[in-house]
Amino acid sequence: MSNKKKLIAMLGGGQLGLMFTEKAQSMGEKILVLDPDKNCPAGKIANKFINAEYTDKNALQSIMNECDVCTTEFENIPYKTLKTLENKIEVYPSSQSLKITQNRSLEKKFLKSANIPTTKYYEINSSEDLNLLNHINDWPYILKTSAFGYDGKGQSVINNFNDLVIAYNDAGVTNYVLEKKVKLYKEVSQVAACYKNKIIFLPISENIHINNILHKSLVPAKITLDSENVIRDISKKIIHSLNYEGIICIEFFIDNDNNILVNEIAPRTHNSGHYSIEGCDISQFEHQVKILTKQEPKCSSLKSSTVMINLLGDLWLNSTPNFIPTDKENIFLHLYNKDIAKPGRKMGHITVIDKSITSAEKIADKLFNSLI
Ligand code: ADP
Ligand code: MG
Repeated sequence: MSNKKKLIAMLGGGQLGLMFTEKAQSMGEKILVLDPDKNCPAGKIANKFINAEYTDKNALQSIMNECDVCTTEFENIPYKTLKTLENKIEVYPSSQSLKITQNRSLEKKFLKSANIPTTKYYEINSSEDLNLLNHINDWPYILKTSAFGYDGKGQSVINNFNDLVIAYNDAGVTNYVLEKKVKLYKEVSQVAACYKNKIIFLPISENIHINNILHKSLVPAKITLDSENVIRDISKKIIHSLNYEGIICIEFFIDNDNNILVNEIAPRTHNSGHYSIEGCDISQFEHQVKILTKQEPKCSSLKSSTVMINLLGDLWLNSTPNFIPTDKENIFLHLYNKDIAKPGRKMGHITVIDKSITSAEKIADKLFNSLI
């Protein structure tokens, strides 16, 4: 038998796939990327790039022939793709975990059945379901499509039943969750690296969103030790209930009454974990490689206070922003090599490490403002 190293398959070639591929290659691994977009960032550096749909039989056959393990950067791939691959190779996350976490309605049911607090919500799968909701008197709510949402897409704020009917009829979609709009004190997220027999929790990140898209992450999150313990307990419960292996990110709301609610679960690396590339000794991407290659779990510790700010396509509206090179060792610029900039599209991010959150945030804000 040849001992030539097989490839690792990455489904999805966006920025998360790109940063995973960079890290994996630096660790001596070879990566096969599958993505329907021929210009996707990770496709440009992959050892092998297959430009095809996630359901393409030939593509899946090639993966099964050439790879012994597969992962993903994206929850909106058909879970049946992972199910097919699972018959032949190892897949992290499992198709079952993907099936639950790619659908808000299944995800909420799962959380409810595990007794995990989440936002108050109603499921709407038909106009009959819709008509039963005319009793609601604690507006506003947020209407979210059950499937295929990201970065706030597929969501609208609803202030009364009439608006709900209009929004439901306008969209041409039938499956929704209608979620109570929470008065947010803070949003935080927990990235965890789930090895076969051990969970490594990365430091919790505090997240600031603008227009429902992550703008800034501050690490460590300014929350009480009690909140941190609750977040870790809930995360453990979710990971164990899903029997999860791979990287997971759990987004939390902390409301004005200090209730801690799960917002959503991402079965993959996460934008709010980008800080870990420079902020931690082991990043979320390194853990992903280590899980797939069955290496020993080791803790991720934070080097110092870290702030990450996203660079969206809006900054490219008139021309490419003027990135002035810096010789500072605590400032890091990442660009994802995307061909086309669009408003709201994630084009890159900056990370700043400093002695305190206040000083790191000040430097990061100043840098970001110089790009506007
Ligand atoms: P996505 O998949 O687009 O990230 P989310 O459900 O996480 O979808 O929503 C994006 C952002 O919108 C959240 O991070 C939060 O800032 C805001 N948001 C979503 N749902 C609610 C809610 N029920 N109450 C208050 N804010 C919300
Ligand atoms: Mg989210």
